[in-house]
Amino acid sequence: MRKDVFSGRWVIMAEAATVRPSDFHFKKFVRETTFCPFCETNEASTPAEVFAIRPSGLSANGPGWSVRVVPNSDPRLRIEGELGRRAEGFHDLMNGVGAHEIIVETPRHDRSLHEFEIYEICDVIRAYVARIVDLEGDKRIRYVLIFKNHGEEAGAHTITHSISQLMALPVTPRTVKTKLITARDYFALKEHASTAMCSGKN
Ligand SMILES: [Zn+2]
Repeated sequence: MRKDVFSGRWVIMAEAATVRPSDFHFKKFVRETTFCPFCETNEASTPAEVFAIRPSGLSANGPGWSVRVVPNSDPRLRIEGELGRRAEGFHDLMNGVGAHEIIVETPRHDRSLHEFEIYEICDVIRAYVARIVDLEGDKRIRYVLIFKNHGEEAGAHTITHSISQLMALPVTPRTVKTKLITARDYFALKEHASTAMCSGKN
C-alpha cells in the first residue's frame, strides 16, 4: 500500500497487474456455463471456507450450504504478516495486510441477488455480519468494506456466479474517517449545548 502524497489517501498498488486494451471492451452480461468453482459440489476448487451457513450435521467444505465465505485465491490483501509502515524516498508505504474474501451468496449458478427470496438475502447479510465480527478481533484491521460487482461494466467479467467481496483494510478510508470525525464533533457540540441548557447556562 502507498500513501498518495497529494490527497493523503492510502492506495492498494498491484505489483504485477497490467491493464490491457481488452479490459476496456465491454460485452453483454452472459452467465457463463463453463466450470464454476463457486457452484455447489465444486467446493474443493476454492480455498477452505472461513464461514458457511448449512444445516448442522453436514461437513465443512462439502455441499448443502446456503451461503459460503472463502478467501479470495488471488487476494489484493493478505492476512499474514505485519504492517511494516516505512518511508521509501518520496513515499510512505505499508504491506498489504488485511483480508480479501468472497461471499458466495447462493449455491446455484443461475440466480442473482435481486432474484433471491427475502430469507436468502437475510442469510447473505448474516454472513457479512459474522465475518465483520470475526475480523474485528484482529487489531491490525481498521475497516471492513463489503462490495458487489455485477456485470461486465463493473469488472465482473471473469465470475458470473452471484458473489459479494469483503476487504478488511489496515487503514480507515479517508472519507469514512471524515464522517466519523464530523459525527463525533457534532455529538460533542450538541451534548455540550444540552448540558449547558440543563444547568441553566447558555
Ligand atoms: Zn457457479
